[in-house]
Amino acid sequence: MPSLSVFGAQWGDEGKGKIIDLLSDRVDVVVRYQGGANAGHTVVVDGVKWVLHLIPSGILHEGKVNVIATGVAIDPIKLLEEIDGLEERGVSVGPERLRIAANAHVIFEQHKRIDGLSERWKGDGRIGTTGRGIGPAYSDKASRTGLRICDLLDPARCAERLRANLAEKNAVIGKVHGEELLDVEAIVQRYVEIGARLAPFVADTGAELRRAHRDGRRILFEGAQGVMLDIDHGTYPFVTSSNTGPGGIPSGAGVPPHAVGRSIGIAKAYCTRVGEGPFPSEMFGDDADRLRAAGHEYGTTTGRPRRAGSFDAVAVRYCLDLAGAAGWIMTKLDVLSGLGDLKVVTGYRIDGEEFSEYPAHLPSLDGVELITETLPGWTEDAASARTFDALPDAARRYVERVEELVATPIVMVSVGAERDAVIDREPIFGADWPASAPTPEGALS
Ligand code: GDP
Repeated sequence: MPSLSVFGAQWGDEGKGKIIDLLSDRVDVVVRYQGGANAGHTVVVDGVKWVLHLIPSGILHEGKVNVIATGVAIDPIKLLEEIDGLEERGVSVGPERLRIAANAHVIFEQHKRIDGLSERWKGDGRIGTTGRGIGPAYSDKASRTGLRICDLLDPARCAERLRANLAEKNAVIGKVHGEELLDVEAIVQRYVEIGARLAPFVADTGAELRRAHRDGRRILFEGAQGVMLDIDHGTYPFVTSSNTGPGGIPSGAGVPPHAVGRSIGIAKAYCTRVGEGPFPSEMFGDDADRLRAAGHEYGTTTGRPRRAGSFDAVAVRYCLDLAGAAGWIMTKLDVLSGLGDLKVVTGYRIDGEEFSEYPAHLPSLDGVELITETLPGWTEDAASARTFDALPDAARRYVERVEELVATPIVMVSVGAERDAVIDREPIFGADWPASAPTPEGALS
């Protein structure tokens, strides 16, 4: 039963796109199981940059099947733009390579509008969402008023459910927010047309994935965002609207828990966070600016400058523990070259009590005092190293000390955006991972 899950072990933007792309070579199927087009994986292949928001990065590899599973909130307009963009650049995205869950929920215009208005309404208490309508679409899913991809394929049903949904949304837009109402019939017509375009890709992806798993196909589950943004286990309410870690896979992909396989976390050698909410190791002023500039820490999807800070071993340890990670990959170590001595957060002290793991039970982290350690920095280049021994001495010691603090093996270190800019330390795939697929490659159905 070969499957592997890869997830963000911080607040997102850990460099998952590059790692997933790298691992895709050894798998048959790549699956997105949660989140929406707020993920923005950047992959650089032979110097060419690709940004993927919804489609798994396996699409850049021939012969791989890519699944957008049930737990994803799908903005079909963004999805079609992504398909067209890939096709224009010569990547074929036929239904044999891309499968879209019939029972995934759809993000409509009204969700995007409500997202922005609701943030405005919250004022200083805003979450800092990407404004892509993801939270409101998940709200509709929980309220049982949402529409699923399969509803788009039936024009009469789509029109009926969409009109009902829009009637309520327009009441909120007009009466609560005092804004111009959405044009119901224009939206209905647009989404019925979109449904027809998506139809060839739509499938019972849960059944396909369970069958693929039974057949021994090698499956990679790709997490979006990070565990600190998990709706249940993250820094609520400043979180995303889904379960971001491997815990979200069984429900999000429609597979049994034992199909999740081995889990590998991904965390940067430092920390960033987008949007509002607790970020204990945050740096400010010149130090933050230098780190942000060195790491190009600006959102892929929104272009927003990311908040930047020191490596937080408390948060990473918590994410890896929650996910039961067998190991983790440290990314962007090269960024720390030349930034001077490096602080690492080793514990939190709150009201006199010390925590070495993230205290998920507290309502807030107000007044948290950081327990830190300062490690020597380095000025030499780390980006050209391809073996652990080739790293500058201080960089090697940094990796080893962080690994010790987090208490989970660092299986790979990434030192650049390119595919080959990695240092292997331990195997990522389990010993039972087959070198090649046992059944013919290609379509799942
Ligand atoms: P994701 O959402 O987790 O995939 O992360 P992002 O795509 O937002 O951010 C990762 C960015 O860092 C992308 O621009 C990558 O090309 C780049 N990147 C990934 N790994 C490394 C690395 O080890 N070093 C450097 N310098 N850049 C990296």
